[in-house]
Amino acid sequence: MPAKAKGAVPETIRGTVVTQRRRCGKANCRCATDGALHESVVLSYSEHSRTRVVMLPPDEVEAVRAATERYRAAKKRLEEEANAGLAQLVSRLRRR
Ligand SMILES: [Zn+2]
Repeated sequence: MPAKAKGAVPETIRGTVVTQRRRCGKANCRCATDGALHESVVLSYSEHSRTRVVMLPPDEVEAVRAATERYRAAKKRLEEEANAGLAQLVSRLRRR
């Protein structure tokens, strides 16, 4: 396995960091008997209209979460800008 590149988490990432709790499926595991489920932090994202998840290594969770928050903020800014642009264009063209 190649050495993990430090600082490899991109500036923006589309998706949501969530904690999944699930049973592993092994009949003799604790999770099948006393109800303590396995927890894993994943990045949930949609691809071709399907929700997919990828497990996050614990040491990358916070960086990935921050990148998804930057994405949401950037998306919101772009939408606001584009809505303002649309309103401006429509109002100019309708005045003619
Ligand atoms: Zn289990």
